[in-house]
Amino acid sequence: MSEQYVCTVCGYNMIEHYPLNCPFCGAPQDKFITAEECSEKYRVEGKNVAPGVTQLRSQPRLGYEHAAYRVEAESKTFWIDCPSCFDASLEAVDVITFTHHHFLGASNMYRSHFDAKVQINGRDSSNKLARRFPFDNKFSGNFTEAGLEAFHVDGHTQGFTIYVFKNVLFICDYVFLKPGSMVFNPYGPPGETREGARTIKKIAESRNISIVCGYNYVENYPKWQEKFAILVDKSPDL
Ligand SMILES: [Zn+2]
Ligand SMILES: [Zn+2]
Repeated sequence: MSEQYVCTVCGYNMIEHYPLNCPFCGAPQDKFITAEECSEKYRVEGKNVAPGVTQLRSQPRLGYEHAAYRVEAESKTFWIDCPSCFDASLEAVDVITFTHHHFLGASNMYRSHFDAKVQINGRDSSNKLARRFPFDNKFSGNFTEAGLEAFHVDGHTQGFTIYVFKNVLFICDYVFLKPGSMVFNPYGPPGETREGARTIKKIAESRNISIVCGYNYVENYPKWQEKFAILVDKSPDL
């Protein structure tokens, strides 16, 4: 196996280099472990959250790694985003498709292990955080693959893509849930993030969504949508 380190603060995988600080979160080297150590210390646990949809998260929690989701679609299986820890015992997957470039996990290792296809919006593939990661498909715009619908919304990142599978919406970290409210992810351009949210709202309303899968939550759509609508519709100054 080639040299690879994992930041235990955020889960970012550093492929074939050992930088002084984590390129994603800035943590120093004493927070890094090798990918082999990571596989020994952590495992990836699956939790069924909807018919055909399983949430994948590291156990114990690997910093603020975001949840990935396994989708059993019509003729192939997908992961939407990718766990940071490489766990060889996971069921094989055909396609690893990303919402954006922030949490690419150990996708390079899973790609080799499962002979999986890895894909991301082309606008996010060129980001420096994504540079060392292999991608088989750099998509653009909206598309449907084996019943999984992908919508490019821009916003939080230029290539940000949300997914809809049957009644489930996959939104990753576009918004953060707070007690009684919701806020936009602040790590992106505010104007574009708000604009992209209007697109998300329209897409969600045009589908029969009942469950929302986020980076650290699974929520009933009506409950989620109520907060989202307030956030999208309120004046940016408030
Ligand atoms: Zn980090
Ligand atoms: Zn993000």
